[in-house]
Amino acid sequence: MSKVQVTDVILRDAHQSLIATRMRTEDMLPICDKLDAVGFWSLEVWGGATFDACVRFLKEDPWERLRALRKALPNTRLQMLLRGQNLLGYRHYADDVVEAFVAKAAENGIDVFRVFDALNDLRNLETAIKAVKKAGKHAQGTICYTTSPVHTLELFVEQAQALKDMGADSIAIKDMAGLLTPYATYDLVKAIKANVDLPLFVHSHSTAGLAPLCQLKAIEAGAEHIDTAISSFASGTSHPATESQVAALKGTQWDTGLDLELLTEIADYFKEVRKKYHQFESEFTKEDVSVQINQVPGGMMSNLANQLKEQHALDRIREVFAEIPRVREDLGFPPLVTPTSQIVGTQAVLNVLAGERYKTITNEVKRYLQGGYGQPPAAVNPAVRTKAIGSEQPIEGRPADGLGAEMARLRKDIGALAKSEEDVLTYAMFQDIGKQFLEQREAGTLVPEALEPIAVAGSAKASASVSTEFSIDVHGETYQVEITGIGGDSAGKRHIYLTLDGMPEEVLIESLNEYDAGSSAGGKRAKASGPGDITTAMPGNIVDVLVNVGDEVAAGQAVLITEAMKMETEIQAPIAGKVAGVYVAKGDRVTPGETLVEIVPH
Ligand code: MN
Repeated sequence: MSKVQVTDVILRDAHQSLIATRMRTEDMLPICDKLDAVGFWSLEVWGGATFDACVRFLKEDPWERLRALRKALPNTRLQMLLRGQNLLGYRHYADDVVEAFVAKAAENGIDVFRVFDALNDLRNLETAIKAVKKAGKHAQGTICYTTSPVHTLELFVEQAQALKDMGADSIAIKDMAGLLTPYATYDLVKAIKANVDLPLFVHSHSTAGLAPLCQLKAIEAGAEHIDTAISSFASGTSHPATESQVAALKGTQWDTGLDLELLTEIADYFKEVRKKYHQFESEFTKEDVSVQINQVPGGMMSNLANQLKEQHALDRIREVFAEIPRVREDLGFPPLVTPTSQIVGTQAVLNVLAGERYKTITNEVKRYLQGGYGQPPAAVNPAVRTKAIGSEQPIEGRPADGLGAEMARLRKDIGALAKSEEDVLTYAMFQDIGKQFLEQREAGTLVPEALEPIAVAGSAKASASVSTEFSIDVHGETYQVEITGIGGDSAGKRHIYLTLDGMPEEVLIESLNEYDAGSSAGGKRAKASGPGDITTAMPGNIVDVLVNVGDEVAAGQAVLITEAMKMETEIQAPIAGKVAGVYVAKGDRVTPGETLVEIVPH
């Protein structure tokens, strides 16, 4: 039997790659009976960035999502993507957290664990794979595909063999950036199949438009499994379309046997769902062969585009793309996938926006250069390392070996806010936003981020379908206001259409994001102009304020810690002096150009 088996990623990677991971459970459940009837080998439904997006933006309990999907998909294997020792967070967790997380994921419904490490440092997969085996589930050992002088066929075969020795039930080639080319795929699959006797999965993004061709060559070379996405969320930075691949193999020895008509019904459903999330669409999710040069994976491209758009610097995205391979080489050619994609991407953004390379270095880059993520695939740039960590010696052991057990402390920290072990794990993944989520749940104040209304086709004026009514008092007069529409974003400005006591009016508002940022911080801060005015290079949140008014600070001393694009950055004092003003508090949203801390030189 040489039938090809299909894993559909519509409920995880497809929307992660195209609409910043925003699909809500309410849009998944109604179609589950049909998805369950298709006969997919598995459905990828959980992990990756979905856990973060649930807690951070959608205010959904990710564990509840998993249980709901398990119930709605009783006949299909459920699969998740797990970042080895990083689980679904962005740091290395102690082994007891990894063990607890895998056990709970299995208990709540995951059958197949695709486990990877961003650096392909296989020591970071050991604990997770052991835990999956212990839970009696399918452990899929993953190789992150990338190209560099050190990433040879021999190395990938060696890694596949090591994963088998570790107990993996199958091997996945994870081509997150769409770097594979059809003939490179053929050679890679042939080499692995010749040496390692395990089922082989090919997960490739269509970023360069090549993934459908790569999968065909992979199948010819002996791969038994392909990852696809229902067509309405396929192609570009997502995956080959399920229906197309099923049609391509029909009548051949590899015929998937899946029902094209049923798949089309599912595609029609998701076509409508996708409209709801139009605000997260990005032009950078379309097919673009330049990925073969800059190696930026799909999810990262749409995230970078969103981040740059937020700070009105979208026009610099090409510069950022050009900087990414330079940073990657400095860091010893890590494959670009979470968290290394964020580490490299954020540093590249800083290098471009600050106008000077490595003027600001994120804490994560420092940790990476200390060996905190594992062994980089190749030697790092010694000048960058010295700039980041001085003469400190990087650790050589497995990063988690330096971590003591954490679960007891986490359980104690979060206390009664956690109603279950799952809640403790949510807190473990994201200490700040996880805790905030549990607090809001307790207070009954969880509110998902707002979705922009769907534009009404053919209406040039009022493009929103919502209507909000309220009254305002101005100079002793009361006016009835009804918002009848919100226009699209043009050059950072938006038209708001309303009626004032029944009379149609039109208001032009500068970026709503900026308005939100200003208001949440209690009014705009002064523009940074003097040498002691400290600002941020990127919009983000204040994680910590390290100085008080009156403090003496040295030049280069850390005064603030900010978080942007999930990466923490230390902001240092540009000059020595006395702190004359602190205009931020923990949790504030800040934008470049504002004075956050003011230092007066002596
Ligand atoms: Mn992927």
